[in-house]
Amino acid sequence: MIQPHGGKLIKRIADNEERDFILSLNLKRIYIEKDEALDAEKIAIGSFSPLEGFMDREDLKSVCSHLSLKNGIVWSIPILLQIDDPSHLKIGEKVLLVDKTDNNPVAVMDISDIYKLNKKEIANTVFGTLDENHPGVKRLFSKGDYSIGGKIKLLNRPSFPNKEYELDPEETREIFRERGWKTVVAFQTRNAPHRAHEYLHRLGMEIAEGLFIHPIIGLKKEGDFDSSVILKAYQILINSYYPHRKVLLAGLSTSMRYAGPREAVFHAIVRKNYGCTHFMVGRDHAGVGDYYDPFAAHKIFDEIPDIGIKIVKFYNVFHCDRCGGIVSENTCSHPEEMITKISMTKIRKALSEGKRPPSTMLREEVADFLIENFNLVTEDYR
Ligand SMILES: [Zn+2]
Repeated sequence: MIQPHGGKLIKRIADNEERDFILSLNLKRIYIEKDEALDAEKIAIGSFSPLEGFMDREDLKSVCSHLSLKNGIVWSIPILLQIDDPSHLKIGEKVLLVDKTDNNPVAVMDISDIYKLNKKEIANTVFGTLDENHPGVKRLFSKGDYSIGGKIKLLNRPSFPNKEYELDPEETREIFRERGWKTVVAFQTRNAPHRAHEYLHRLGMEIAEGLFIHPIIGLKKEGDFDSSVILKAYQILINSYYPHRKVLLAGLSTSMRYAGPREAVFHAIVRKNYGCTHFMVGRDHAGVGDYYDPFAAHKIFDEIPDIGIKIVKFYNVFHCDRCGGIVSENTCSHPEEMITKISMTKIRKALSEGKRPPSTMLREEVADFLIENFNLVTEDYR
């Protein structure tokens, strides 16, 4: 049984009265990390619809082996609440999930399952590796050996930098309606925009009535650009070059998981929930290092049922001197000596030395801003 995603948003938010009542109960507290507090929020506001809570063992097993929840709905990424020691907890208990960074009681949870994780099996199926240099594997292994599952309800929004740039799925759907966009293509990114991204944005604006640029601003890995820098770089690009009536920019505070093809499916489902009709998947989507075949994130969509959002696949995009612009392997076959690959690694290196990369790679306005605000994530995954 395959069910559509993102028809009706499933929301799990307590109203003020309910929140006050729950907080008055003096429930047992579970202290959670920021990424889990953000996951709880995303479950509650419908970004992760149809999830209603953290996964129990049946959903986890089904996601790992069948790319679907136990009810048959396609889902590709485990959404877990890992804990070290569950001995003080019991099934059927209501607990408060408290953000340990600021003692904010984020959500209430009805525990329906407590189980030990087989982390190696999860790492192997979700990330395709046991290598702890992989940031997703590292995160999974560094958290608790047990997991608790159960429905949640949001009590308070978690705090996080750049939250003012976020929109809830309900809000983006409303904006798309107001603007009369019947087709909206979503662009996922975790990076500052370079010319190959721009090429994809323009193609997006050609094929759909609206372009939704939705950078991940949650926890990322060491060496990625700071999220506020990415958002401002996007504003500069949009203000300098794009027709405002065609573009919406908002942040998405969820962690990057670097799960390649599985994360591409997850990203598509999430954007469907925000009201998008199309989702762009480029080369090595959500990849890291060389853990994934660069086109595995394309192929996976051929292996799963229709998830109700059209996948727009892109291949290698580069600058060609002979063609005189940004092209792709679908539109240019000139030899390598005429080609400039546009790589964020090269761009970052130039910027770190205070140099503008060639304008064939990065817009000058964006380059100048990034040189002035060269700010990378330095603390690894925290
Ligand atoms: Zn060419």
